[in-house]
Amino acid sequence: MEIHRIRCAKSLTDSTLHQYGARASPLCDVCGKHGDVIHYLDECEKFVKEREEWRRAVNATLGSCNLKARMSLAVLGELVDFVAKTANL
Ligand SMILES: [Zn+2]
Repeated sequence: MEIHRIRCAKSLTDSTLHQYGARASPLCDVCGKHGDVIHYLDECEKFVKEREEWRRAVNATLGSCNLKARMSLAVLGELVDFVAKTANL
């Protein structure tokens, strides 16, 4: 996934691929929930370990680790790391 597309919620998630006709279902294969970018970044059970590492790193820098904090440009490198770690899972 491309970072700028994630930050503006236009990444090629399950739901977006469904909108383009490239997937039969907009639901996540793992969780069965709507597979949009918020699901990928904040909810999907598939990336619990990687998300916890991301949250810990952002919290160490900003003192907060909610999704708004994690999307801050000040910690863009941590978002890049999360995407890189989850890209092939
Ligand atoms: Zn999921």
